[in-house]
Amino acid sequence: MRVRYDESVALDGVDLTVGDGESVAIMGPSGSGKSTLLQVLAGIISPDEGTVTLLTPDGARELGGLSDAARSALRLREYGFVFQQGMLIPELTAAENVAMPLLLTGVRKRTAMARAASLLRELGLAGLEGRRIGQLSGGQAQRVAIARARAMDARVVFADEPTGALDSRTASEVMGVLLAETAAQGRALVVVTHDEAVASRCSRVIRLSDGRIVETAAR
Ligand code: ADP
Repeated sequence: MRVRYDESVALDGVDLTVGDGESVAIMGPSGSGKSTLLQVLAGIISPDEGTVTLLTPDGARELGGLSDAARSALRLREYGFVFQQGMLIPELTAAENVAMPLLLTGVRKRTAMARAASLLRELGLAGLEGRRIGQLSGGQAQRVAIARARAMDARVVFADEPTGALDSRTASEVMGVLLAETAAQGRALVVVTHDEAVASRCSRVIRLSDGRIVETAAR
C-alpha cells in the first residue's frame, strides 16, 4: 500500500499480513511511518493505493469499501486500542470506560457494568472501578484500555507505545498482560514501539525506514 501526505510519501509499498494469535512489533525511527501504518490498518485513514482487509467469520471486509458508519461499527466491534492518550475518556470512571463499547453495541447498562467490573478485577484493578482515568497511574490506565479491548473480545488490538510512559518494571507487567489478553487468546496484536524489550516479546518485528519495510524478523 501507499500513503501520501501532501508532498511526502509516508508509506510506500508496504505489504503486511497479521494472523490470529500473532503479535507484531512495528519499529523504526521517528517519521518512518509507524503511526501512519497503525492508522491505516485501523481504518482511521485510507491508503492512497492498496487495500486493508479484515478477515472475519462472516467473510473478508475491505475497509475502503465500507461506508464511514460501517467502518466505525467494525472498529468498535473488532478493534481494540491501547494508546497512551486519547482513547480513554478522562471524565469517565475505569468501569465506565470499559463498559462504553458494550453500551454502544446495545448491551444493557447493568450487564455492561458487571462485565467491566469483572474484567477490571481480572486485570488487577479491583477497587479502582470507580476511579476516573486521571486518578490512575499510567500502568493502571493501560490496563483499563486492555480491559476495554477484552470487553468486546476485539479481533485485532492496536497498541501505540503502550509502555512509553512507564518504568521498566511496570512496562514489563503491562506488556505481559497485553500479550496474555490478546495474542495468547488467539487475537492479533500490533504494537508500535521504540522499546526493544517490548519488541523482543512479540512474535514478529517489522522495522520501517522512510515508509518502507526494511526488515522483518520472526522470533
Ligand atoms: P512515525 O510514527 O514513524 O514517527 P509517521 O507515520 O507519523 O511516522 O510519519 C511518516 C511521515 O509522514 C513523516 O514524514 C511525517 O512527517 C509525515 N506525516 C505524518 N502525519 C502527517 C500529516 N498529518 N500531514 C502531513 N504529513 C504527515
